[in-house]
Amino acid sequence: MEVIKQVHTIRERVQALRCSGKTIGFVPTMGALHQGHLQLLNASAQQNDVTICSIFVNPTQFNNPDDYKLYPRTLDQDTELLQAVNCDILFAPAAEEVYPQQHTLLQFSFGALEAVMEGAHRPGHFNGVAIIVSKLFHLVQPHRAYFGQKDLQQVAIVRQLVHALSFDVKLVCFPTVREEDGLAMSSRNTRLNAAQRQAAPNLYKALKLAEAQLKQKEVPAIKADVVAYLSQVEGVALEYFEVADPATLQPVEDVRGVQEVALCLAAAVGPVRLIDNMLVNLNEV
Ligand code: AMP
Repeated sequence: MEVIKQVHTIRERVQALRCSGKTIGFVPTMGALHQGHLQLLNASAQQNDVTICSIFVNPTQFNNPDDYKLYPRTLDQDTELLQAVNCDILFAPAAEEVYPQQHTLLQFSFGALEAVMEGAHRPGHFNGVAIIVSKLFHLVQPHRAYFGQKDLQQVAIVRQLVHALSFDVKLVCFPTVREEDGLAMSSRNTRLNAAQRQAAPNLYKALKLAEAQLKQKEVPAIKADVVAYLSQVEGVALEYFEVADPATLQPVEDVRGVQEVALCLAAAVGPVRLIDNMLVNLNEV
């Protein structure tokens, strides 16, 4: 596997690949890789001639300086994992390489899509996501780019970005990979201590509880139950729980006549902020 740290080198490499007619699959990540990432990398390796993974903890998408500072960085271990899944190129630039000027004034607007959930609770987050995804798409010029449903709203934002800026890339989305106890895999899970790690699967349990009630109760009652359930779990502070339209991410107040909903939540488990979601087909519950 080739490890590239410079912007000019990845540009040259990608241009050569494109000229020789190779298809490029791209998996953008922030590293501390786990099975959720590896699923995307395996799919890319199967569907493209060349797979490029980026590892970049993007400062512009963090609204909390501690979260940025404490985000796990495990490049040596990641490099080994990438070699094992036949990744061809790792692009791992330094922040100064990606952002030669300290501040970017670029402002994106995603309208209603960013007014809810992660957009509402993490000011500037999706602007930072849009900047880095745009930059990486320009540098890597992928034919296909792989994302996880774990970050459902991010997928919707990137889809809108690709459409609005006419990026010639096909987005491929894969389901959330979970630990055996249901906890959604996340790089941030490594920051949980033993008690917090034990408490964390309750986020998934809360989503399952909501799923089981979708046909029996009104949405406000389901929300109240999720709030009550998680308020009993020590060390867990729920930030939001929403029943949303899976495409627009707008709140669904009444599920009657609705085909599918996304149950989405964010919570602090100790000092670590986690998100999770579940897509529910209402014809199947
Ligand atoms: P991150 O490194 O957290 O920015 O994630 C990089 C990509 O992996 C994003 O598209 C995430 O949605 C995806 N991803 C992260 N965790 C999971 C998971 N547990 N299951 C599936 N995809 C995931």
